[in-house]
Amino acid sequence: MTEASSSTVLVCEIFGPTIQGEGVLIGLPTVFVRTGGCDYRCSWCDSLHAVESRFRHDWKPMSTEDIWSEVTRLSGGKPLTVSLSGGNPAIQPLGDLIDRGHGDGYRFALETQGSRARPWFARLDTLVLSPKPPSSGMACDLAVLGECVAVAGEEPQTVLKFVVFDAEDFAFAREVSAHFPALPVYLQPGNHTPPPADAEGHVDIEGLTERMRWLVDAVAGERWFSAHVLPQLHVMLWGNRRGV
Ligand code: SF4
Repeated sequence: MTEASSSTVLVCEIFGPTIQGEGVLIGLPTVFVRTGGCDYRCSWCDSLHAVESRFRHDWKPMSTEDIWSEVTRLSGGKPLTVSLSGGNPAIQPLGDLIDRGHGDGYRFALETQGSRARPWFARLDTLVLSPKPPSSGMACDLAVLGECVAVAGEEPQTVLKFVVFDAEDFAFAREVSAHFPALPVYLQPGNHTPPPADAEGHVDIEGLTERMRWLVDAVAGERWFSAHVLPQLHVMLWGNRRGV
């Protein structure tokens, strides 16, 4: 696991404005701050450049002020929602950045697998918990996921998001969601990325569409009427290219 010191954040990339491509904020203009390092190694990870240590030379330790200067430059100083992603942004010290941005009227959404609970989750505007299903090869610790929900408390909008490749993943999403009945649920079809994505970031859109249809049928068949089923909009628009 890679973790920055308490005074700096390990940053993989900052880019935007673009749109949030998935989940509860889909379609919303945003600037991304993608941190480097992750405590997981999902078999289908689509952000390996923010995970594996072989890319570490591209990650930069940055102060809150340096990150904030880049975010405000990209957004032209006009407040918007900043998306904190990774890697696992929960292993970075992001509380100061959230406070800094709130002072300027910005909002913050963070997505994490829910493997680390951080007190500053309570200062977010949106917390997306995305427990990884069996196809990832990782194990979800429900107790820690529960800690994440508890530590966030009432202030942020907290939601669950699941990537679903197959029936086993779907059953996992059903089971985990049942533990947190108050949380809205977002499901998205899994994206088989490296391989077969090529240098241009091309993806198997037909396969994604097929899994999306299957997912809609599975939700309808189970009468799971509180679940939202969404594609990854950015993948449809730009494939798996970085920085969009
Ligand atoms: S938790 Fe996310 S960033 Fe980390 S390895 Fe899994 S998919 Fe990649």
